[in-house]
Amino acid sequence: MKIPFLELSRMEPGLKEALSVKFDQMLSRGVYSGGEEVYRLEDNISKYLHAPFSVACANGTDALELALRALGIGHGDEVIVPSFTWVSTAEAVVMAGATPVFAEVDGSGLIVSHWHKLVTAKTRAVIPVHLFGKMVDMNKMMSQAKELDVQVIEDAAQAFGAFQDGRAAGTFGHVGCLSFYPTKNYGALGEAGMCLTSSAELAERIRLLANHGQPVRDIHTLIGRNSRIDSIHAGFLNVILNFFDDFQTRRKVLSKIYLERLSGIPDLVLPVGILEESHNAHLFAIQTSGRDKLKTFLSEKGIGTAIHYPQILPDMDIFEASGNFAVSRRISKSILSLPLNPYLEIEECDYICLTIKEFFTR
Ligand SMILES: *Cc1c(COP(=O)(O)O)cnc(C)c1O
Repeated sequence: MKIPFLELSRMEPGLKEALSVKFDQMLSRGVYSGGEEVYRLEDNISKYLHAPFSVACANGTDALELALRALGIGHGDEVIVPSFTWVSTAEAVVMAGATPVFAEVDGSGLIVSHWHKLVTAKTRAVIPVHLFGKMVDMNKMMSQAKELDVQVIEDAAQAFGAFQDGRAAGTFGHVGCLSFYPTKNYGALGEAGMCLTSSAELAERIRLLANHGQPVRDIHTLIGRNSRIDSIHAGFLNVILNFFDDFQTRRKVLSKIYLERLSGIPDLVLPVGILEESHNAHLFAIQTSGRDKLKTFLSEKGIGTAIHYPQILPDMDIFEASGNFAVSRRISKSILSLPLNPYLEIEECDYICLTIKEFFTR
């Protein structure tokens, strides 16, 4: 058996057909930036996530940078970010002109609840990351942040469709950032992102910043940039949203099989809470001290896996950082993502579980 970690060409025929129809429509319409599909996408997502305002943009990294800039965060400001995340979280802080301050993570890779000990007079914001689709305890985070007068920007790039107490990931913070990168649970056929907020004023600022600070044509009230979404991706995302619930159901079914078959193996830590509503089952990331050997073994048996992420941010030369990141570093050396996507077959999932068991009983 040959099982790729993720192969986006394995698309459901019904979705492929619907996307082709949309593509034809868009070719006839001839609108490739802005327009009806973009309004519809923002409206669809606001409704789906119960987010008062949503502003589409070019990608998730831009969404984070736009959020920071809209909040007036920049030079001389500090922003607390987890030490274990995709590079964008801290990169956006640097691009906005501010300084990332790294916080340790818990056993699941989420920012520790005592992040607030890092708050200084310069701290303006904290960016919780719902890593692998598992939500940070947002009620707690919001009350801590309120007490310290710190803004919260949720990096919900991996958590579209996760809900806590009925509220969507990305709708707790002052701004929530989404990514529609193709490999995310709700992925476009290219690059796209979005900011969510309940503040009309922030939404307006983000919209301006993403479109040359231009409220009406040829009037520029802010130095902005071009971070508009392509209409074609908005159009495709409108189609894909109709399939999203089914894809999520599929991810949960597969996660349940993994959990059942792989439980009870010593030195194998399974993801916590992946079947809960507050986890969107973006990645099925296991932890084991023999990670590299297991990865090679699976590869030899035709199974593709991925490492999210092999290096923690404070250890990268591009960030100057100090602190104690023992948990973060341990996770980066023991984490391994197994195939998990709506197109993975049950038989493939079975084979992966059997092969992992074989590795541990050799
Ligand atoms: C994917 C991702 C981003 C960035 O999204 P892009 O659309 O790829 O720019 C930001 N943060 C996290 C945690 C991500 O996984």
